[in-house]
Amino acid sequence: MLTTGKAILDVANEHSFAVPAFNISDWAMFKGIVEISEETNAPLIVAIHPDEVKHVGPDMIAGIVSRAHRSSVPIAIHWDHGATYDEVLTAIKYGFTSVMIDGSLKPFEENLALTKKVTDSAHVLGVSVEGELGTIGGNDSYAEAGAAEIIYTDPDDAVTFVEQTGVDSLAIAIGTFHGFYPAHLKPELKLDLLKEIKSRVQIPLVLHGGSGNPDDEIREAARIGINKINISTDIKVAYHNKMREVLGNDPKVREPNAIQPACIDAMKVVAAQKIELFGAAGKGSLY
Ligand SMILES: [Zn+2]
Repeated sequence: MLTTGKAILDVANEHSFAVPAFNISDWAMFKGIVEISEETNAPLIVAIHPDEVKHVGPDMIAGIVSRAHRSSVPIAIHWDHGATYDEVLTAIKYGFTSVMIDGSLKPFEENLALTKKVTDSAHVLGVSVEGELGTIGGNDSYAEAGAAEIIYTDPDDAVTFVEQTGVDSLAIAIGTFHGFYPAHLKPELKLDLLKEIKSRVQIPLVLHGGSGNPDDEIREAARIGINKINISTDIKVAYHNKMREVLGNDPKVREPNAIQPACIDAMKVVAAQKIELFGAAGKGSLY
């Protein structure tokens, strides 16, 4: 069924697991992600970045909403990395049930004021809000916003931010990068920092850009306080690597219904690994 981000994440918080937020930007990928979530009985957050909405056009959202209503698992439709108040209101009009407002590159007070304004309005409309504090790294041209260096989330700031904005979940910077992890840095999550932040804010915490971090760290993070993990790079790489293989150099290979099924299957294998790693498999029964 279609639900809000808060409804999905509060249960994950209570039962100490993380829900995957898979970024999709075409129907084949969306279909595959819903299928694997239903096959593994895992709650799902369908994340769509503003650039991805621009690519598919907002009309596709109506189809996503319709499919979510018929799903055997809870699904939230999440606007990833909203930049402005107006943009987020537009997303709510399209039918998103969860929105992120990302003011993390702004000064603290500006981020707080913007996030509070978005949260006040979204809550009136029954939509959940994710804020972000600290700076997640990002260094590849395809990746979402990020800085060349990670600025770790300050726990005191997190307490103030959550209290004053009323956000439903918070993305924190504890050592992840958007896109591929830079070769000169060793991926390492600060799990002690995560524990400290969690003990003080209690709300669901979010990890962006976990593609390069070791599985055991991600598993532990999901167990001790991260309740939503964004996955974009890993599933898209799986999808398109398979597509290159299927297309080869044969110009006669042209029908999407002949090309895409193998790509969807390859993507589903990676998605299933994430669902398992995050502890989300079978958790659809909790809703
Ligand atoms: Zn992100």
